[in-house]
Amino acid sequence: MKELNLQVEQKYVKKYQAGFPQLVRDMIVNWPKQIAEGQLIRLTSPNQTFLGKAYYGKQNKGDGWVFSRKEHETLSEEFFRRLLEEAVQNRQALFSDEATTAFRLFNGEGDGLGGLTIDFYDGFLLLQWYSAGIYAYQKMFVRAMFDLPFVKGIYEKKRFLREENTHDFVGGTEPDFPLLVKENGMNYATYLNDGWMTGIFLDQRLVRQKIMEEYALGKSVLNTFSYTGAFSVAALYGGALHTTSVDVAKRSVAKTSEQFAINGFNPEDQSILVWDVFEYMKFAKRKEMVFDLVIADPPSFARTKKITFSVAKDYGTLMSQLIDITAPHGTIIASTNYANFSLKKFKEIIADAFQSSKRTFKIRETYQLPSDFKVHPAFPEGNYLKVLILELDV
Ligand code: SAH
Repeated sequence: MKELNLQVEQKYVKKYQAGFPQLVRDMIVNWPKQIAEGQLIRLTSPNQTFLGKAYYGKQNKGDGWVFSRKEHETLSEEFFRRLLEEAVQNRQALFSDEATTAFRLFNGEGDGLGGLTIDFYDGFLLLQWYSAGIYAYQKMFVRAMFDLPFVKGIYEKKRFLREENTHDFVGGTEPDFPLLVKENGMNYATYLNDGWMTGIFLDQRLVRQKIMEEYALGKSVLNTFSYTGAFSVAALYGGALHTTSVDVAKRSVAKTSEQFAINGFNPEDQSILVWDVFEYMKFAKRKEMVFDLVIADPPSFARTKKITFSVAKDYGTLMSQLIDITAPHGTIIASTNYANFSLKKFKEIIADAFQSSKRTFKIRETYQLPSDFKVHPAFPEGNYLKVLILELDV
């Protein structure tokens, strides 16, 4: 493929020299009228100093990724094999941990190539492609993946399409679903061929572990936006007295019951409620209910019949309502995966909500992405996860 020469605007040259990995159209002087997805690019400064090799792939945010700062490098099978090997090396501790069989194996730009992530589910890989541009290299990359000795089968999600895939299976063998994986000794039922989500969000591993080890013993637990109840499972392992899981999606009852059952917890002993969280919080307040441990990990944006929730606009309100149903000296785990605000901003929103509630708190712990979700040093915005464990003083 013939490379395209693109020049970075002078004021951004230093940024790319410092390793910034994202290709951003607005930072380029001579962006062409037409450019093909997957196009290889040679990035230079306006006076032709070489900056890096990139590919074009239109994403939700950004227009592709720089994959090398060496002139001779190209998106070849051999190049990708090297990145994969390194990614595997970096995760040896997880591979040799028998209590954990699901984690991120390759995290886009953090592992040297933006636009593609690979999750490991007990020998099966789940690929997520974020642009048509990176998908142009699918065959070549998949070939390299099948050469890894531990790969049994491969599934994929084309994130760049709006519609969910209808056919997720790429090749190898297919497991029976649910595919049971382990995380710190807990079991999780997963589905690699059932829409965008698999049943577990692997980026919350450390938080689930902490809930199990430290925050659940003897506690009543409210898990809001509970999805398949993964946090509730961790709380039960940790000795919670009772869990209440609230999600507006009807599927959550069957999904959460399944997660409980495969871990030997009787779903009948727990509350699994199909409710709008905001309605539920009003109800709980009216009934003067309180919980010792309250968990909130909402989607960045959601619309139900009654309300539209966006983290950016509504997290403060959510927090205020959660504080009202948290027991004296209780704990709140406040989480968001919203990439567009910083940890600092998140802390401010939480502090504001406490101010108007007249209760006070301390931040006991802060979590961001675990190390398998490797973050590029020159692209800290890739560390989208923010989790604060808050302890209420009264
Ligand atoms: N915290 C979960 C993941 C949450 S995914 C975990 O760790 O596994 C987001 C979930 O929020 C989805 O299951 C969606 O159905 C639910 N949701 C979105 N808006 C909601 C609302 N207003 N009330 C209740 N649940 C909601």
